[in-house]
Amino acid sequence: MQPVSFEFRGFNHELVEQLAERISKALKGYEFKGFLVGCTFEDYLSDEGKEMLKKKFQPVLVRRLEEGLGVKADYSNADIEILVNFNQDLVYFIVRSIYIYGRYKKYVRGLPQTKYYCFKCKGKGCAYCNYKGVLSEESVEELIAKHALPMFFAKYAKLHGAGREDKDVRMLGPGREFVLEIIEPRKRSVDLKKLEKKINKAEKGKIEVIGLQYCEKEKIREIKGKRNDKVYSALIVCGKEVSDEELKELLAEYNVRQRTPQRVLNRRADIVREKKAKIIEAKKKDSNTIELKIRAEAGLYIKEFVSGDDGRTKPSIAELLGIKCECKELDVIDIIK
Ligand SMILES: [Zn+2]
Repeated sequence: MQPVSFEFRGFNHELVEQLAERISKALKGYEFKGFLVGCTFEDYLSDEGKEMLKKKFQPVLVRRLEEGLGVKADYSNADIEILVNFNQDLVYFIVRSIYIYGRYKKYVRGLPQTKYYCFKCKGKGCAYCNYKGVLSEESVEELIAKHALPMFFAKYAKLHGAGREDKDVRMLGPGREFVLEIIEPRKRSVDLKKLEKKINKAEKGKIEVIGLQYCEKEKIREIKGKRNDKVYSALIVCGKEVSDEELKELLAEYNVRQRTPQRVLNRRADIVREKKAKIIEAKKKDSNTIELKIRAEAGLYIKEFVSGDDGRTKPSIAELLGIKCECKELDVIDIIK
């Protein structure tokens, strides 16, 4: 929200009226249940002087705003913070975000979870990205946000996921947990069942959201801290035909030592992770294609567990079979609670 200015000519009745009027005008169209007022008095005032104004001036302004806005001040549960800065003669507003918890499923490949910023210009816009700043037109975040934003009369939203899958990986099974943060909403009471239906109708075949509900900000930390095992279905192209015996021998649990994959080295530290992986099903699709169901500990890079990543992941499916293996398609099919 843009700050609004005022003219300061002393702490008097006119100032209260002027502030109340400008603040009320700026907040027109915003829905909020509680607000709080904070004043930053002029720097040259003594601490005693500031303390006195805080006790005398601030409550008068708060009372006048309660009347004018028809909303009670609530310091422990404020949807809007009104910050009056007497050094700048400006009033700033902080509108509390809204947080919506839910799970999403992703039925298509090539769809990233969040906006994919152009790596050449880092979002500023350049010839490479057609001056858009982003490399993908769509993301799970955008497909959800574009329906939520108009209902909350907001401009921006951010998706916080409980981890993320690669953009070419489908997210099936129970779906992935997320919190959608609506930034600076004007409307706060929206029927989330309606929103859920709207998204699922318009984005059918691409994504689906489940169990939307309001939550607190702390939920983001909670879901980001979860380290659930996942079950993947991997379609693997092999360098030569694999026999049924060889497939059967794959069915076991492995302690995998995995160095950070080469493809993410520019973003992640080069460390060795030790993760468990269990092959629970192995099927032949055609002469050189197999399908594996793999249960893996959170954080294991599955594509590299398949290919071996030039010896950086040990053991790997390629190493176990003694041939070249490449993960052609990957789906998350279950998340173990
Ligand atoms: Zn660019």
